[in-house]
Amino acid sequence: MGDASRHGHDERGPSSFATHRARLAADRADTLARTAALSRDFDGIVAANALVAVDDEHDPEGASTAFERAHVAALMARARDHLLELDRAWERLERGEYGRCEGCGGTIPPERLEIRPAATTCVRCARSDPRRPRRPA
Ligand SMILES: [Zn+2]
Repeated sequence: MGDASRHGHDERGPSSFATHRARLAADRADTLARTAALSRDFDGIVAANALVAVDDEHDPEGASTAFERAHVAALMARARDHLLELDRAWERLERGEYGRCEGCGGTIPPERLEIRPAATTCVRCARSDPRRPRRPA
């Protein structure tokens, strides 16, 4: 199937603008639902912790509650980061830059976008992400 490439159009069947947009929207909906669930968990933990603190001076569950709370807070932060990534991906899609690697300018493989609709880099650039602390060689 090589004849479609002679036309200068960007619409290549199912992996088009509409598909990307639908994926981003689905991912966003998932992430929002996750954030809501986590925030309920968090409130539950805080409420339970407050009861324990009032109720019991030696607070036997204090440490594990703090751990659990930190864990949920970390998951919430990650979900919020992901929402920002999705916003960026959405803007890129509207500018026609979606699917292009921010690192090397190459094409992000469709399989990667399918798994991670908010990905802004190819796998190789993601590995050498400067935001991630790199071990000195
Ligand atoms: Zn790249």
